[in-house]
Amino acid sequence: MTVHIATNGHLSLWCMQRTLVLIKPDGLQRRLAGEIITRLERKGLSLVGIKMLQMDDQAIADHYKHLSTRPFFPEIAAFMKSAPIIATCWAGVEAIATVRILCGATNGRTAIPGTIRGDLAMSVQANVVHASETPEAAEEEIRRFFAPTELFEYPDKGLTLIYSPSEGSGRT
Ligand code: UDP
Ligand code: MG
Repeated sequence: MTVHIATNGHLSLWCMQRTLVLIKPDGLQRRLAGEIITRLERKGLSLVGIKMLQMDDQAIADHYKHLSTRPFFPEIAAFMKSAPIIATCWAGVEAIATVRILCGATNGRTAIPGTIRGDLAMSVQANVVHASETPEAAEEEIRRFFAPTELFEYPDKGLTLIYSPSEGSGRT
């Protein structure tokens, strides 16, 4: 992905970190997609890509390759392809860490109230969202779900209200 750094001090979506959020099959079927997207929007993250799809075995094997030897892998694989998901890509300063905090701990039962999982989930597996964990994972995951033409660069006028002028001057 091309990295455009604003050299004129203006806040720009292209200077900001990107992260992938999947609304999992349970989130979609529990009619929580709007709620989850609303929470990310209200925080101040910028939506730069969104699509609905159903994951196949290959996409699941790639996406959860770090879990392939875990006993729960067959269950999470079946769950993730049981219904469509909504893939979203968000931009923001330190978006990856910020979104992970918003999502909360993996186990919905112990996730802190106020977080997406803490408020909306009771399960470890059916925990309504996936969010990228590291910059390397985010880059790989965004590429897995979105073609370059499906990600949008636009003059986001809201950025001037959400950040100070000096924030967002690097791709962090
Ligand atoms: N998962 C599960 N059982 C476990 C651990 C994880 O079903 O014991 C599922 C759960 O849906 C989780 C996903 O596998 O969101 C990926 O696990 P990871 O440890 O990466 O958690 P996350 O990054 O989603 O918090
Ligand atoms: Mg993870």
